[in-house]
Amino acid sequence: MKAKDIIKRVLLLEIIQGMALTLKTMFTKAVTRQYPEEPRAAMPGFRGLHALSKDEEGVMKCVGCGLCAAVCPSQCIKIFTAQGLNHEKVVERYEIDTLKCLFCAYCVEACPYGAIALTEHYEYSDYSKESFYMDKDKLLENWDKYMSGDKGNEYFKRFWKPMSIDFNTSEEQAVFKGWDNNK
Ligand code: SF4
Ligand code: SF4
Repeated sequence: MKAKDIIKRVLLLEIIQGMALTLKTMFTKAVTRQYPEEPRAAMPGFRGLHALSKDEEGVMKCVGCGLCAAVCPSQCIKIFTAQGLNHEKVVERYEIDTLKCLFCAYCVEACPYGAIALTEHYEYSDYSKESFYMDKDKLLENWDKYMSGDKGNEYFKRFWKPMSIDFNTSEEQAVFKGWDNNK
């Protein structure tokens, strides 16, 4: 053992340093928050409860492409689609088992249309498993509750720009415009 270490031990220098630090912080204001009486302020970009986005007309943006379900590492997204009257794809069911979710936001990142979001809402504890199983209606309701107005726009502008913004086609590309060829 070096002489420096022996002196440190004899004079209890490290203990004195530790006590000094304790004394220094003893009379400062406590940082402990008395939750739930003192809830945390909203945290933009926080990965909380899921929501299915709506456009300005209040229509669900999801087109049922299934990319979110394909990328989800815990396979907790289920999508069921059907063919509509005009041969369009209709999202009949969209479900998320939030108890399995990792809140990785891969689904948000993969969605080309900004159709799914993770809201700032985190206070959704419950006693029944069923309440954590989100169906399409609940997910759309979450959008109205937690992301309506500028909040939803800001979410995609600041954190998750939908990839469809960057979609482009060459001029020669044949683009499907519907069944009526005159359109
Ligand atoms: S946040 Fe991650 S784990 Fe949760 S639904 Fe999305 S992709 Fe799946
Ligand atoms: S990736 Fe987006 S548009 Fe496609 S199914 Fe998922 S939420 Fe809907």
